[in-house]
Parts: sequence; C-alpha cells; structure tokens
Amino acid sequence: MNPIPVYDLTIIGGGPAGVSAGVYAARKLLKTLFISPEFGGQSIVSDDIQNWIGTPHIAGSKLAKDLEEHLKAYATGIVDIKNESALDIQKTEGGFAVTTDKGSYETKTILIATGSHRRKLDIPGAKEYDHRGVTYCASCDGPFFTAQDVVVVGGGNAAFESAAQLLAYTKSVTLLNRTAEFRADELTIKKLKEHPNFKIITNAVPVEILGDKLAVGIVYKDQVTKEKVRLETPGIFVEIGALPTTEFAKNVVDLNPLGYIPVDPRNQQTKTAGIWAAGDCTDGLYHQNNIASGDAVKALEDIYLHIKAK
Ligand SMILES: Cc1cc2nc3c(=O)[nH]c(=O)nc-3n(C[C@H](O)[C@H](O)[C@H](O)COP(=O)(O)OP(=O)(O)OC[C@H]3O[C@@H](n4cnc5c(N)ncnc54)[C@H](O)[C@@H]3O)c2cc1C
Repeated sequence: MNPIPVYDLTIIGGGPAGVSAGVYAARKLLKTLFISPEFGGQSIVSDDIQNWIGTPHIAGSKLAKDLEEHLKAYATGIVDIKNESALDIQKTEGGFAVTTDKGSYETKTILIATGSHRRKLDIPGAKEYDHRGVTYCASCDGPFFTAQDVVVVGGGNAAFESAAQLLAYTKSVTLLNRTAEFRADELTIKKLKEHPNFKIITNAVPVEILGDKLAVGIVYKDQVTKEKVRLETPGIFVEIGALPTTEFAKNVVDLNPLGYIPVDPRNQQTKTAGIWAAGDCTDGLYHQNNIASGDAVKALEDIYLHIKAK
C-alpha cells in the first residue's frame, strides 16, 4: 500500500484567493493539495465584473473558467486538484489532517480561502418561500420573473447589481433598504436611479413574506412613520450581505465574533502556526476579488519562506 502523501501545503477554496495561491504554489514547486467543490467563487453569478484589473468587462462565469485554466496550466505534477469540500481540520504531530467529503489528507501547512456565503433573510415566511419566490441569485432566478414587479432587499453593491440585472427583463424593481444610507458605490447608485423602472424605498425594514403556495408579497415597516406597508410581488431578491465560510476550521483557528478568521495583514498568518487565511473569510476590512487574490499571494510568499526555512 502506498503511504499517505504529506503535502507541503493544502489550499482550501477555489475563488480568486484560492486560485491565486494555487498558481503561486505551483510556480514555487510546493507539493500542494487544492480542495474546492468549484472554481470561481462568489462573483460567478455576476453578469459583468468591471474591476478585475486588466479586464474592463468580464462575466463571472468567464472569470471562473479563466481561473480554472490558469491553475491547470501550471498544476500538472505539482498541485493535486480535488473536487471536494473540507469538513474538518485537526492538528497532528507533523502538521494537520484535513477531512473532506471524500477523504482525509496530511499536510504541513494550510491556506484557508473559503470566502463567504449569503446571509439569509430571517423573518416569518422567508424560509417557507425560499426558492418559491424568495431568492438569493438575480442572475439565476431573474428570468422566472420576466415582465413582473419584483423587490430587492438590501443596500450594498450586490443589491444594486442585482437590481440592474433584473431591470433587463422585469417590469419594475423596487429596492428596500433598512436605513437612509446605502453601502453601494456612488456611481452604481447614480446610474440605477436614472432608470425609469427602478424605485428605492429607504428606512424600510422587512417584517414578513406573504404567500400561498408561492410568495405573493412582502411586508415592511416604515421606520419613520412606524406603519407596516404591504407590497404585492412574486419575486423577492435578497442581498443583505455575507457570512464567512469558516465553521469547518473552528477546531484549529480562532474566529472573531462574526465568524471571520483574524489574520496579520502583513503576511496573512492566523494565530495558529502553520495556518494562513486569505480573502473574504478573513477579518480584512475590505472584500473584493483583487483583494482576495492579493491576500493569497502575500500568504503564499510567507508560506514558501516558512516551508523552505525549516
Ligand atoms: C453577486 C456578487 C458580485 C460581486 N461582484 C464583485 C465585483 O464586481 N468585483 C469585485 O472585486 N468583487 C465582487 N464581489 C466580491 C467578490 O466576489 C469576493 O470578494 C471574492 O469572491 C472573494 O474571493 P475569495 O476567494 O476570498 O472567496 P470566494 O469567492 O467566496 O470563494 C470561496 C471558495 O471556497 C470554496 N469553498 C467554500 N467552502 C469550502 C469548503 N468547505 N471546502 C472547500 N472549498 C470550499 C467555494 O466553493 C469557493 O470556490 C461580488 C460578490 C458577489 C456576491
């Protein structure tokens, strides 16, 4: 029987952070295991990414394909790519054991790059009508609501981007934001406000999803008048932020109260010797594709020195 291979490095996650790390690991000839159930990460659902540096416009699906091709171009014989999900990490004598849905692997070091996932709307009816009118993906589900009046819940870039996508086929889009301020870029907000079929309602806190077999509306509380208002709509697109995907690592790394992994921003080291983290799963203040990629490159430089110095 072959002995279990011990990897120099295991990269967990196939978004911009994980893939950037994978490319650098391959070029530095580190014996690497790369674990991810898919390539591309969160912005795969975006129709048009305009700030991936060097590329004025790129669809999320094309970015995902490019990332996969880039890693595979350098991976042969150096980076083992596994289409798996990490479930647990345990400390071992020589490093760590990573358990996935398909196996278990020994590794000297780890880079966690598992990003984040959508925060769910937590009000009566939201769970009941999930996938029956309540949705978390405008590009996936938008076409089901062609020529209808839909609602977007949220006030950040993702909410405005979703609204922009939906305006291409729906009759109207109403964006509900719980405060009077938005977290989206000024330019994005300005552009959308000019659209005749787009409406914003501020100080609107969602309180209930209404429905029968499918969703038929949403009730929000106007924070100024304190009145409850009902909007008739078959489609409620929720974009209220993200939660870090870090639960599987909680045995070996500290998490902050929101679940993010604290890192030293100079080199992406966690407080656990031998584990680094990069991208949206970290407590970095800003989360973007380019930042995730840069974080991972920083981590890889540091991991390389750590391994070679031993
Ligand atoms: C709708 C939307 C649009 C966006 N548009 C832009 C934009 O235009 N420009 C921009 O710069 N940023 C944009 N962002 C933000 C950007 O997508 C993130 O900052 C970036 O994806 C973070 O990259 P990451 O590699 O850290 O994590 P992610 O992209 O979240 O990737 C995480 C990876 O880890 C994998 N993974 C998760 N759990 C496990 C596990 N247990 N085991 C193994 N693998 C796992 C996932 O499958 C995924 O491959 C957008 C985000 C959203 C949601």
